Amino acid sequence: MDPLGDTLRRLREAFHAGRTRPAEFRAAQLQGLGRFLQENKQLLHDALAQDLHKATQLDSAFIRKEPFGLVLIIAPWNYPLNLTLVPLVGALAAGNCVVLKPSEISKNVEKILAEVLPQYVDQSCFAVVLGGPQETGQLLEHRFDYIFFTGSPRVGKIVMTAAAKHLTPVTLELGGKNPCYVDDNCDPQTVANRVAWFRYFNAGQTCVAPDYVLCSPEMQERLLPALQSTITRFYGDDPQSSPNLGRIINQKQFQRLRALLGCGRVAIGGQSDESDRYIAPTVLVDVQEMEPVMQEEIFGPILPIVNVQSLDEAIEFINRREKPLALYAFSNSSQVVKRVLTQTSSGGFCGNDGFMHMTLASLPFGGVGASGMGRYHGKFSFDTFSHHRACLLRSPGMEKLNALRYPPQSPRRLRMLLVAMEAQGCSCTLL
Ligand code: NAD
Repeated sequence: MDPLGDTLRRLREAFHAGRTRPAEFRAAQLQGLGRFLQENKQLLHDALAQDLHKATQLDSAFIRKEPFGLVLIIAPWNYPLNLTLVPLVGALAAGNCVVLKPSEISKNVEKILAEVLPQYVDQSCFAVVLGGPQETGQLLEHRFDYIFFTGSPRVGKIVMTAAAKHLTPVTLELGGKNPCYVDDNCDPQTVANRVAWFRYFNAGQTCVAPDYVLCSPEMQERLLPALQSTITRFYGDDPQSSPNLGRIINQKQFQRLRALLGCGRVAIGGQSDESDRYIAPTVLVDVQEMEPVMQEEIFGPILPIVNVQSLDEAIEFINRREKPLALYAFSNSSQVVKRVLTQTSSGGFCGNDGFMHMTLASLPFGGVGASGMGRYHGKFSFDTFSHHRACLLRSPGMEKLNALRYPPQSPRRLRMLLVAMEAQGCSCTLL
């Protein structure tokens, strides 16, 4: 007869059988603990009183999600409606008042946001402020309780500097260069379809678009005809006349992008038309790491391919650079995708596709390092725009127990205090 041995064996067997692994099981156990406390309050009070002379209510600890107050949302031009309204939903849902600063560059949407949107919300709690860099700079001199900025890393630093003067917390949703690793073990046509769609979507003016491809020279040879075939299928023989291809937002961006066409060698596309702000879906090869196209975020319909000899070299290449907003890995081998995932860092990650991870409200969206800080989408938006206030409600009684923590201190008292804290699992019942 060995009751203790039997018990331990039983528990160990349950563990090895995987009983404790499912999330439902864990949740059920925790709910059981909650019910235990709720349903046996009196029983526990009596027992505590007998053991420790503690007759008291159990402490009540909770998180109160409170609105920050006055929130400033600054948005860019590339998805001018989505990138204003999605944060706005979170800010309003959490109970904040909001100042919205849309981009002056997407001026038609800016006008609607300024003139029409306010009619649909309570204007005593909501305002749209217009302007470019200078006006935004003046706006930032004011004190806000939270600033949510989407835009470039350069302006992100200006925003964070201004916020620091008031110790205002920020979310920075920034950009950068998103690598796309393509393993030799892939179907090139599938990769071409997925990469091209995400790269050329909105004429490449998407913060999470794959910015460049990393692959072996052999994969590049297989990928190029596949990309050509995809581009022709998506946009026809003359992409400029395709209704499915967007245009570059303005002349400044157009000139910047046209200059990038001079990097490496054009393998596909390369045409441009200034009067139409058109840049053809383009693939560049023989690109050097120090060329501008590999130094700045492209933000246009240009896809450079950089050759690497191995997965290790690709990972080393990625880790040598700033942490990207998104990272993509294509391979038929889940081991390869997993290695890219585990040995790198990025705001988000998608294996075998483009920015689909961003479309799921169940996943947080945000950058890390130079690609930003903070997160939103779905419930994460609500949490971002809420202060998580840690609260504890204690009983006004049981002052005798509290005496332990008051001076004058003595080694004996200190020992008792430590024992009591340990017994409480470091809970605050005593402290
Ligand atoms: P931007 O940084 O130039 O402008 C963003 C906002 O900041 C605009 O409202 C603009 O008026 C304001 N602004 C510009 N210069 C300013 C200054 N000197 N002082 C104060 N405010 C200033 O960015 P953009 O060109 O509108 O958008 C493109 C950038 O945004 C890219 O880097 C892209 O990757 C990034 N982006 C990121 C996300 C994301 O969710 N992480 C989404 C879209 C775009």
